[in-house]
Amino acid sequence: MSEKLQAIRGMSDILPHETGHWQFVERKITEILNNYGYQEIRMPVLEKTELFARSIGEQTDIVAKEMYSFDDRNGDSLTLRPEGTASCVRAGIEHGLFHNQTQKLWYMGPMFRHERPQKGRQRQFHQIGVEAFGFDGPDIDAELIILSARLWRALGLKDIRLELNSLGTAQARAGYREILINYFSQHEEQLDEDSQRRLHTNPLRILDSKNLDMQELIKAAPMMKDHLDEESAIHFEQLKNILDESGIPYEINPRLVRGLDYYGQTVFEWVTDQLGAQGTVCAGGRYNGLIEHFGGKHVPAFGFALGMERLMALIETSGCDIEAQPLHAYFILSTEEGVTAAGMKLAENLRDQLPQLRLMSHCGGGSFKNQFKRADKSGALFALILGSDEVKNQTVGFKSLRDKSGQETVSWDNIGEKLAKNIQ
Ligand code: ATP
Ligand code: MG
Repeated sequence: MSEKLQAIRGMSDILPHETGHWQFVERKITEILNNYGYQEIRMPVLEKTELFARSIGEQTDIVAKEMYSFDDRNGDSLTLRPEGTASCVRAGIEHGLFHNQTQKLWYMGPMFRHERPQKGRQRQFHQIGVEAFGFDGPDIDAELIILSARLWRALGLKDIRLELNSLGTAQARAGYREILINYFSQHEEQLDEDSQRRLHTNPLRILDSKNLDMQELIKAAPMMKDHLDEESAIHFEQLKNILDESGIPYEINPRLVRGLDYYGQTVFEWVTDQLGAQGTVCAGGRYNGLIEHFGGKHVPAFGFALGMERLMALIETSGCDIEAQPLHAYFILSTEEGVTAAGMKLAENLRDQLPQLRLMSHCGGGSFKNQFKRADKSGALFALILGSDEVKNQTVGFKSLRDKSGQETVSWDNIGEKLAKNIQ
């Protein structure tokens, strides 16, 4: 018995009518990253499970309950990457990218987490990650925030705000952790199950709870900013100065923590109210301890990851203008002898002449009437029309599909120029 084949729950297809938008956004982002001198790195989607367990932290939600892990045929435990920072750091150490040099890197691709699928939360989703290695900051912290702000501007997004916090150095955070455990222990009866579990493993994460019943308790909790070490306080002030000078508004959110263990000092999120509960579009911060933790030397690091699905959803709800990229021309070819070969050759010549040309040739024969219908449906701006008479005279019909102007006859020698004038 055959069951209907379906994609895995929480993993969606991005269909042809959507990919144009994705490509547009990815192109814009890549352009901006190139403008700032960041270089792309591509890592495998599968890594040893141990990599994530060691970097993200055993007690985090990701490692404790969200990873797609399995034993491969050799019995090694592998995991589909839930995020990109761990692999990026692994690759950097493995290939000596951190030896006496700084790196400004980015990557993009699918990530996998076994979460409850809902709006803005998939099991396969896509991130664009940006990481800078070897910079103590706060200039690099600011650069990455400024870069992300440029991205929202380039996409015409307005309803997105920046939240900032500092988590202090590892040492300051350890002290604060004890203070938090102490505070929440005194109110243990008010903690939900998740938070009780986190109390001794990852108490900072309790601050991040979305449980409405706990908001009073969380609001009254001691705040990191009152326990910040001097070095981190100065770092944070300097970052805020640069952002002020650059005209980037922000809110300090003293309860902003990151889910991953390796964050310290600056953390930030870009949040929107347009997407309901899953409102964080982009999140990141400083993780100076991670490379050392992997046995490398001390390399300061700062990065962020942007959730593509949430960004695309925000673009859609905000009605931002995405430049449509319709076909320029649809090439209609009669089925008479010799026309297909001549048409294919002419199409190739045009593609050689005009690298930016988006030209679709009709394949599969059929009447002119049917081909015109296809041409219309393709969204193309113009039709090129070739029959045996045109081949004989070395001409081609040229007709707008968007207005009522009539068909012109243009010679093969001039059709490239004619198209070029009409498609800028
Ligand atoms: P959240 O609190 O929403 O679970 P997170 O802290 O787990 O987010 P990060 O690990 O920081 O998220 O990932 C960075 C970004 O990737 C998020 O801000 C979000 O835009 C996106 N993201 C994370 N998990 C998912 C998911 N399951 N589905 C879609 N996008 C996601
Ligand atoms: Mg999460």
